[in-house]
Amino acid sequence: MNKKQKKTLIRIIIAAILLIALHFLPTGGLIRFIAYMITYYIIGNDIIRKAINGIKNHKPFDESLLMAVATLGAIALALYQEAHGLTGDYVEAIAVMLFYQIGEFFQSAAVAKSRKNISELMDIRPDYANIETAGEIKQVSPEEVSVGSVILVKAGEKIPIDGIIIEGKSSLNTVALTGESVPRAVQLNDEVISGSINLSGLLKIKTTKNFGDSTVSKILELVENASSRKSKSEDFISKFARVYTPIVVFSALALAILPPLIRILFLNSPALWSVWIYRALTFLVISCPCALVVSIPLSFFAGLGGASRAGILIKGSNYLETLSKVKTIVFDKTGTLTEGEFKVNAIHHNVIDEEKLIEYAALAESASTHPIAISLRKAYKKEIDRTRVSDIQEISGNGVVAKIDDLEIIAGNEKLMAKFNIDTIACHSAGTIIHIAINRQYAGHIVISDVIKPDSFKAIENLKKLNIKNIIMLTGDLKKVAQSVAEKLKIDKFYSELLPSDKVEKVEELIDGKNIIAFVGDGINDAPVLSRADIGIAMGAMGSDAAIEAADVVLMDDNPLKIATAIKISKKCLSIVKQNIWFALGIKALCLILGAVGIANMWLAVFADVGVMIICILNSFRALFASTK
Ligand code: ADP
Ligand code: MG
Repeated sequence: MNKKQKKTLIRIIIAAILLIALHFLPTGGLIRFIAYMITYYIIGNDIIRKAINGIKNHKPFDESLLMAVATLGAIALALYQEAHGLTGDYVEAIAVMLFYQIGEFFQSAAVAKSRKNISELMDIRPDYANIETAGEIKQVSPEEVSVGSVILVKAGEKIPIDGIIIEGKSSLNTVALTGESVPRAVQLNDEVISGSINLSGLLKIKTTKNFGDSTVSKILELVENASSRKSKSEDFISKFARVYTPIVVFSALALAILPPLIRILFLNSPALWSVWIYRALTFLVISCPCALVVSIPLSFFAGLGGASRAGILIKGSNYLETLSKVKTIVFDKTGTLTEGEFKVNAIHHNVIDEEKLIEYAALAESASTHPIAISLRKAYKKEIDRTRVSDIQEISGNGVVAKIDDLEIIAGNEKLMAKFNIDTIACHSAGTIIHIAINRQYAGHIVISDVIKPDSFKAIENLKKLNIKNIIMLTGDLKKVAQSVAEKLKIDKFYSELLPSDKVEKVEELIDGKNIIAFVGDGINDAPVLSRADIGIAMGAMGSDAAIEAADVVLMDDNPLKIATAIKISKKCLSIVKQNIWFALGIKALCLILGAVGIANMWLAVFADVGVMIICILNSFRALFASTK
């Protein structure tokens, strides 16, 4: 409980005791009035103040105003009764405030608790890092560890910073990051990401990033910012309240004035002012929109939490909402539908030794993060001597140009060779072809091939089941390669040999304002497309920072199956939001009618209000458990 909640609780208790005591004390007249007003002040002063501030700031129409007008009106009615020789009922105004405060108290406690629960589910923040100095292990805060330091991670501890294993082997639990429950085996030279838990052996890790740039920090930053991006439904609620409250206030006014006037003028009967004013005040209490105001953001928050438990980071409730409406999904091929791990299949027309050709290719690619580059470096097998490489230039969607031992090496596709007017020898093998030129002389090509991710088949199938009408694949790779992948995956449409800018163009062609388009990419070469699509979904949060920056949704484990899961979660969350809206509005409408005809009194009104709110809050929690594997 925080300070404010404690204070509210104390006020609730004092006011309740006073209310009971006053009921039994034989007071009357002015003393009785003052005693009740003190109680009213204790329980309601903050609400009155909020209402006054609202009027001062020209934003009067909120629930504080409703409560203030209703309760002050009830007091005025009681005074009116006193003036006519009756005993005025001050209890009602105080009780209404009391119930309202109790409701607010439970609501703020529930919200705080659920936020805490959700954050705990994603509890991946490491508290310390172990470093070894002079044979002794010391715990330091992860922020203090510089890049290239050696840290020790014992069994059961969280890996605090991204790095590479330099000693030991173990298995890692990455469930909090990826939703993947099968432990991942790791050994010497494997990259490990922060936030995963070391399950067995002792690991010595050389850090490759600062704590601030490590995966765990990035994720937490994302999650913390996510709830500040409002969805249309949330926007709808604040706009709704702005329209709704004045309507309610004026309806209440009409309810207080019109029936008595009609009675006097047309029916020739007594006006019964106090009856109608009381009904109008009850009407005001019932109309509080707090159930909606509270439960809708909470539903979204729970949906975001549920998604992140499944290894899907959604950067804001607005994206959760957009995701639920996706009609077209455009996939990038390499690294998204395929592993992005190319194997060298063949080397053709090489004018130099095969090994030498691979060596030049690997050196030229030494600075690239493209899957092709990584694969070529792997194929080289030896340590790369970066001092031999200079003037590296990567031409996105084409390849690289670099200087190695005073030779100019060009490695890339046919388009790149054409740029330099180098004739290529066509290749008939199936696969991606990397042509190499040395000092502008054609030196042969390397045929590499990639495999489709085993989960891609099911991923496409699941999306079709979710009624995603169009599935399209874009790639910078050759038509031959693209066609074979598309056929195997049963993707209806594909476009090949595209430059990154062509991909943006293609997606722009598809955007028509009606169909929501999602683009799924690995974040390499396609960051512009990720940000241009209605919703950008990035694979490879494991590696690429660019992907995390540009995307709206990040799949922690590169698994394309998660796209369908994300869409399912978003749909469920949105349906919960809609249930809450209709349920709350329905009950309100019913109570408003009952209030207007005089069946509901103010007590019932407050109970109805608080009850609806609690049911809506409980319903919101279901969004947290929306993920189905
Ligand atoms: P995709 O659309 O399949 O993700 P990219 O747009 O990343 O592919 O790249 C398209 C093509 O450009 C690749 O198939 C390759 O021929 C060439 N290419 C891109 N980057 C490189 C690189 N670093 N080295 C060699 N070739 C590259
Ligand atoms: Mg790509």
